[in-house]
Amino acid sequence: MMSIDILKETGALLEGHFLLSSGRHSNRYAQNAKLLQYPDKAAQVLSAVTEQIKDLEIDLLVGPAMGGIIVAYELGRQLGKRAIFTERENNVMTLRRGFEIHPGERVLITEDVVTTGKSSMETARVIEEAGGTVLGIACIVDRSKGEAPLQVYSAMQMDIDTYAPEECPFCKQGIPVVKPGSRKF
Ligand SMILES: [Zn+2]
Repeated sequence: MMSIDILKETGALLEGHFLLSSGRHSNRYAQNAKLLQYPDKAAQVLSAVTEQIKDLEIDLLVGPAMGGIIVAYELGRQLGKRAIFTERENNVMTLRRGFEIHPGERVLITEDVVTTGKSSMETARVIEEAGGTVLGIACIVDRSKGEAPLQVYSAMQMDIDTYAPEECPFCKQGIPVVKPGSRKF
């Protein structure tokens, strides 16, 4: 089964007419946590990423919390490599819990979704300050449109069209807008 079909089947990818938290409207809504609640399906989707990264000579996978943690764990499991996570402390991305990155280690950042790459770049800074080498970003869904600041390895690329409400074509057709996360699903 293709990654996109698994995302739809698990409710991680919805198609329709959505009100986003930004106030804009969209034709799609992605919530990768809905995929990650099924370990077997998550493993299947992420095996497409493992196939792309298996020759990178990775020492360590590092995912920013929350979205990157399970992706790091599953890719680490498939590759037989160590997987840790960064998290924010006083709003600054950092390593806690005794996690260490050693000088010279080759590190792949993991995310559930990449858009601007902001949290990835905060994690890249943590890796580089520890003396590690950043190899890129592995993720489930790449929404960066090729504009992420690092190489991206993804299970699928996806564009989500967003509109200001007054310009939304679905509103003009009279299609009711749905707020994702409401009980309508
Ligand atoms: Zn609309």
